[in-house]
Order: sequence, then structure tokens, then C-alpha cells
Amino acid sequence: MSMPSVKRVLLKLSGEVLMGAQQFGIDPATVAELAGEVKAAKDSGLEICLVIGGGNIFRGMAGAAQGMDRAQADYMGMLATVMNALAMQNALEQLGVQTRVQSAIQMDEVCEPVIRRRAERHLEKDRVVIFAAGVGSPYFTTDSGAALRAAEMKCDALLKGTSVDGVYDDDPKKNPNAKRFETVSYDRVLADNLKVMDASAVALCRDNDIPIVVFSIREKGNLARVLTGEGVQTIVRKEG
Ligand code: UDP
Repeated sequence: MSMPSVKRVLLKLSGEVLMGAQQFGIDPATVAELAGEVKAAKDSGLEICLVIGGGNIFRGMAGAAQGMDRAQADYMGMLATVMNALAMQNALEQLGVQTRVQSAIQMDEVCEPVIRRRAERHLEKDRVVIFAAGVGSPYFTTDSGAALRAAEMKCDALLKGTSVDGVYDDDPKKNPNAKRFETVSYDRVLADNLKVMDASAVALCRDNDIPIVVFSIREKGNLARVLTGEGVQTIVRKEG
């Protein structure tokens, strides 16, 4: 299945992929490898917006399950995404890629606030823009943040780099007969509650006609392969 033709993409990386083989936190060697993948994609001529999750450090739901106030726990989760964004910024800049971090929670000493026109200018100047802190509100996830920024920045596709190689009709870790979709419609993902991104993120992509490309970022070189239509992936789009 060939990729839609893309010039500007939003790449969403779940926080977990930054852990490498660790159980928690940031593995600098893994972040450096991921940065290399991003650089290769950028060198192929793409404009790249990045959103990174925070699940390798803190998830609001996990805090709430242990008795924390949900909104308070979500603020902590959002701060975790800023840490990951700064780690990725550092790794990209060590490879000579110019970047800017824009956070939905203002922290002027550390990074810029989210300003769409400024982000546009950064892309024009060949910089990678890393959007941190999701949508800036509790009760959301970085998937929703990714869908929102993809729409706002008029990205041609949302690439979701995760630890599975696409969308399956059942959990492939539990069911060996689970089948991977080549393409699947937004409506089927929502109706069957398929594990892609949370429903609000999928609905936002559907309403703005942004294809979601789900692929494994753990395999070296896979981002570049997916972008040339050679990799293994699932594309979520209007027609399944
Ligand atoms: N979060 C939030 N609002 C947002 C984005 C994130 O409250 O707009 C919080 C939420 O607690 C979430 C955590 O930040 O659990 C980390 O983000 P996420 O779980 O999306 O990270 P990922 O699963 O992609 O690593």
C-alpha cells in the first residue's frame, strides 16, 4: 500500500519508544537513534513537525489510579512530554538539525509557546518543530495533541511511530491469528474500538481528512521505508 503523497508530516512518537530496553525514562542512545531517523526523513525533503508522548515518565491515568487528582496527574504527564521534547531537541541538534520546541504550557525560559505562524516560519527555515505538552489541557493525550497540531499545521499525514507495526483486528500480542490491516477506515477504527489512537484524535483526523499512518519505529530505517511506501504499516483513511 503506497503512502499518500506527502510534503509536510506530523510524526508522533509514543514516550515508550524513548525508553529503549529500559523500563522507564529516557535512554539517550535510543533517542539519538530516533533523531537519526528523523534527520533522514528531513533530509529526504520533508517538513517535519514532531509530537512526543510522556508515557515513559508519567501518565495521568496511572496517577489517578493510585488516588491522585486526575487533572493534577495530567499536568505532571504534560510536563513529562516537555522533558522528552527537550531530550529529542538535544539529540537532533547534536546531529546538526535545527529545531524549536513549542509548548502548549508556557515556559518561556525553556522553550517557545505554541504560535502557529511562528511554527510555519520555522518550517520554512528548515527547522524541525517539536510540539510539547499535548493540547495543554488535562483529560487529553498527546495523540489528541498530535491530531490537533497536524490539523493546525496542515500536515499531509500523521505518522504514528510506535512499538507495533500497524493496526490489527485483535491484540497481536495475545492472539497469534490477529490480522494487520493494510488500510482501514476512520469509522471502522471508531466503531470497533481498534487500538490506534484515542477516539478524539481519530475523529479530529477524520474530520480534517488527515491520513494516519501507523508503523513500528523500533525497526531501524523503518520511517524512511514507510515514507517511500516500502515499509510495513497501516493507513487509516476515509475509505478502508
Ligand atoms: N496529557 C494531558 N493532556 C494532553 C497531553 C498529555 O493531560 O494534551 C498528559 C496525560 O496525563 C498523559 C500524559 O500527559 O497520560 C502523557 O501523554 P501520553 O499518555 O499521550 O503519552 P504516550 O502514551 O504517547 O507516551
